[in-house]
Amino acid sequence: MSAAPTRIYLDGNSLGPPAPGVKERLASFVTDEWDASLIGGWMGHGWWDMPTKLGDRLGALVGAAPGQVIVAESTTVVLYKLLVAALKLRPGRSWIVTEEGNFPTDRHIIDGIASQFGAEVEAVPADQIISSICDGTAVVCLTHINYRSGFRLDMAAITAAAHAKGAVVLWDLSHSTGAMDLYLDRDQVDLAVGCTYKFVNGGPGAPAFAYVAERHISTLAQPITGWIGHVDPFSMSEVFEPDPTIRRMLSGTPSVLGMVALEAALDTWDGVDLVALRARSVELTERFIALADERLVPLGFELVSPRNPDDRGSQVALRHEHAYGIIQAAIAAGVVGDYREPQLCRFGFAPKYNTIAEVDEAVDRIVSLVERGDHLLAAYAVKKKVT
Ligand SMILES: *Cc1c(COP(=O)(O)O)cnc(C)c1O
Repeated sequence: MSAAPTRIYLDGNSLGPPAPGVKERLASFVTDEWDASLIGGWMGHGWWDMPTKLGDRLGALVGAAPGQVIVAESTTVVLYKLLVAALKLRPGRSWIVTEEGNFPTDRHIIDGIASQFGAEVEAVPADQIISSICDGTAVVCLTHINYRSGFRLDMAAITAAAHAKGAVVLWDLSHSTGAMDLYLDRDQVDLAVGCTYKFVNGGPGAPAFAYVAERHISTLAQPITGWIGHVDPFSMSEVFEPDPTIRRMLSGTPSVLGMVALEAALDTWDGVDLVALRARSVELTERFIALADERLVPLGFELVSPRNPDDRGSQVALRHEHAYGIIQAAIAAGVVGDYREPQLCRFGFAPKYNTIAEVDEAVDRIVSLVERGDHLLAAYAVKKKVT
């Protein structure tokens, strides 16, 4: 190959690219805010209010009215805080229902909390979630879009079924936010967490968000009761009294640098029509699946994602016995997807920037590299730490 091939990025479901303007925004933050104002920046540049300001903007992406979303730590930590709080909303009930094959961090947090707080975990296949919810269920804790298959759970139906049995729901929106229209308020979701470095493009390790429905805020007791979640941090009181608003979800000093990059990303989301965005996402995944059926299945690939777009998020997984080598060879050919156990090639389609032409070109390149046998090269057999 002569010149390096143009990059086709189909991994925006794992880490989105930098937003236009983020470089300048970060540079100006360091010079004009941090260095210029130092401690005065908390009030002078509004750092103090960033968790809720950005939260409200993320709320617009998930169908939440202002005052219910806040930006805090990582998805993992926010999930921990919300799940403990959720259990406390249902004293006397001890079961947490989740999906078998949920994302590992979600499962580790669920299992860890169960052992710390004496709860029980029931992990079931997607089609058994609703029938598993019973009078002993405290929380139904699910990821909306399965990270492997891209299977999309029915948020409204599962939430209603949980409520019918008196349970609360906690949704993880990591693979949904920024890829589709969502309706947390309309669907009466209780609690949700989401990642901002995937389709939202907030940057590696960007802060996650928590959603707490208005009706729960004043009673929600999250377990990491630090001074920033106190009603009056600078009273320096030794007695914890939670902030009456969504700010009670905070614990310690938030990462302003992380929020500045996220803010630059959110500037690109203002006014985005989420229904049109979802339509675009469906168009991209439908096109990829049609081409995969025609050209990749004969080469040993098998579709793992749902065929019905209503059951699908914005990614497509294909199984192949040489999946790892294929992803490595594809990356060398400029098509960036990722590998997930077991034997899955995973391709994310970001409706914000991916195009149909990119889908076509990506399939062309994958067909060529498999026909040439590039994926069998020894160099592509060694597994890296990040796949
Ligand atoms: C990406 C993702 C996470 C990420 O958690 P971190 O705390 O940011 O590492 C968690 N849960 C799900 C379902 C994800 O897709």
